Amino acid sequence: MERYRKINLKLTPQRMAIFDYLDGNKAHPSAEQIYRGIRKKFPTTSFATVYKTLEALKKKGQIHELTIDESRRRYDPDTNYHHHLICLDCKSIVDVNIDFNITIPDDQKYSYDVIGNHIQFFGVCPKCRDNHDSQK
Ligand SMILES: [Zn+2]
Ligand SMILES: [Zn+2]
Repeated sequence: MERYRKINLKLTPQRMAIFDYLDGNKAHPSAEQIYRGIRKKFPTTSFATVYKTLEALKKKGQIHELTIDESRRRYDPDTNYHHHLICLDCKSIVDVNIDFNITIPDDQKYSYDVIGNHIQFFGVCPKCRDNHDSQK
């Protein structure tokens, strides 16, 4: 909560609820999921409010927007350097906290200043694997 206080967003109860929802959230929720979570406490919250708040947090570097789920954008309150493993079936996303120490050879840098990387691993989560197995 402290970190959100510092970024000069007007703290409305709805916004507090959004921060609260994101705080320590490891599920990489979508805007829709956040919206549904907030509506339980604040039924009058509009999707636009949720979306605008997410955009503001993103601009201020407090959350990362993930585009690895092609059906919808997902949000990550963990802005520390990490990678992701995604289930191709249910689109669950988990964190991979390993520094892979990857570099691009100079002849493939196209004179870019490279400042980072983000690796996406794909697979099937245990839950979906169990579902597949029980359908056999
Ligand atoms: Zn899955
Ligand atoms: Zn993450």
